[in-house]
Amino acid sequence: QIRHTTAELQAMDAAHYLHPFTDHKDLGARGARIIERAQGVYLWDSEGNQILDGMAGLWCVNIGYGRTELAEVAYKQMLELPYYNSFFQCANPPAVQLAKAIAEIAPAHMNHVFFTGSGSESNDTVLRMVRRYWDLKGKPGKKTIISRINGYHGSTVAGASLGGMSVMHEQGDLPIPGIVHIPQPYWYGEGGDMDPEEFGLWAARQLEAKIEELGEDKVAAFIAEPIQGAGGVIIPPSTYWPEIKRILAKYDILLVVDEVICGFGRTGEWFGSQYFDLKPDLMPIAKGMTSGYLPMGGVIVGDRVANTLIEHGGEFFHGYTYSGHPVAAAVGLENLRILREEKIVDYVKQEAAPYLQSKIASLAEHRLVGEVRGVGLLGAIELVKNKATRERFAEKGSTGTLCRDLCVRNGLVMRAVGDTLIMSPPLVIKPEEIDELVAKAWRCLDLAAEQLGV
Ligand code: PLP
Repeated sequence: QIRHTTAELQAMDAAHYLHPFTDHKDLGARGARIIERAQGVYLWDSEGNQILDGMAGLWCVNIGYGRTELAEVAYKQMLELPYYNSFFQCANPPAVQLAKAIAEIAPAHMNHVFFTGSGSESNDTVLRMVRRYWDLKGKPGKKTIISRINGYHGSTVAGASLGGMSVMHEQGDLPIPGIVHIPQPYWYGEGGDMDPEEFGLWAARQLEAKIEELGEDKVAAFIAEPIQGAGGVIIPPSTYWPEIKRILAKYDILLVVDEVICGFGRTGEWFGSQYFDLKPDLMPIAKGMTSGYLPMGGVIVGDRVANTLIEHGGEFFHGYTYSGHPVAAAVGLENLRILREEKIVDYVKQEAAPYLQSKIASLAEHRLVGEVRGVGLLGAIELVKNKATRERFAEKGSTGTLCRDLCVRNGLVMRAVGDTLIMSPPLVIKPEEIDELVAKAWRCLDLAAEQLGV
């Protein structure tokens, strides 16, 4: 491989590379940050800077960087069978084994997996599968999917439509028909005078109001992340999920829990559904499924839907060239072996999460911070001008961006969602690395406060 200097790479990047979710005018002025290598929880850029990855890439490198076992199984599998499709009644050993291994860690009533190549494809699959289910049940009118404002379910047309990001809807005339959105359970930002429990009930009852408005014979499913990740690590108040469960049971509507972020240990349980005691019909997954080492996604399908699809017979005309890709599946299996044998999910629950949460709680004392919240190894820091009134700084998002940029310059990746800083480090982060993360976050808040003159 030819080695290029940072400046050469940046020039080639600017000339040829269109990035996802990027303002290229801004990128052109700054030059892309080139990440060259990684180990454990650390990244190194092309200038030699060591950066603690407080986001596990994009919420995905659960077992940390540099696990050679994954490279070895990928190499072996490429030599043995680099590719074969799983259409037309074919299968390959790693994909079959991975389906079984996932069924073993999933809630007891979920025993089948439909493989995809990404979280977005998983949610496209969800949209088609729930409609197929209701068709087979003789209720073809049940087509509409209810989702939430500010939820994130991917970037494909169906994924972005299911998601509730207005900036995405504005580009490309979304959502597509048959998808409607209700408010999110974001107490700190939208709870007004209500206490969190009261607000949780209010937000959940927006679902009931929407079902009543549309008619239950029109509603196929409700989709939500257990904790909204890209929306700003929004943790629903304790009253929210129990009320949602009551409503879905009352109207016989399928529950889709998007586990793309929470799945594979992030909350200290295998799935966010287990953390919140949910009984989903479908769970889209990706990211932590391979710890991001290779692209792969899937939908874990509960018995109710799977048995209907199977027993009815007939083809579900859906699938991807890379569904059940043997190399990705081999990597997924090895990732799962590591998570299980090294008891990483127990480590999150018993050690890393309590430690991280107690440490980040101290950031609430900083003069720029209005609230700190978190579950498992997810965390959010709300930046405000006035702690008492929750007033924000004038230009929306500018304080978040300022802090994020100061963080990365000082060796820490955190992401900014508007004026909320969010974190999601690898699950294997050690206590001393958590200390480093929190110390760096505090320092960046200080630097930002100085620049803002507060
Ligand atoms: N669902 C959730 C909850 C996500 O956070 C994401 C990505 O961040 C997706 C779906 C889309 O996954 P992908 O980017 O693999 O298509």
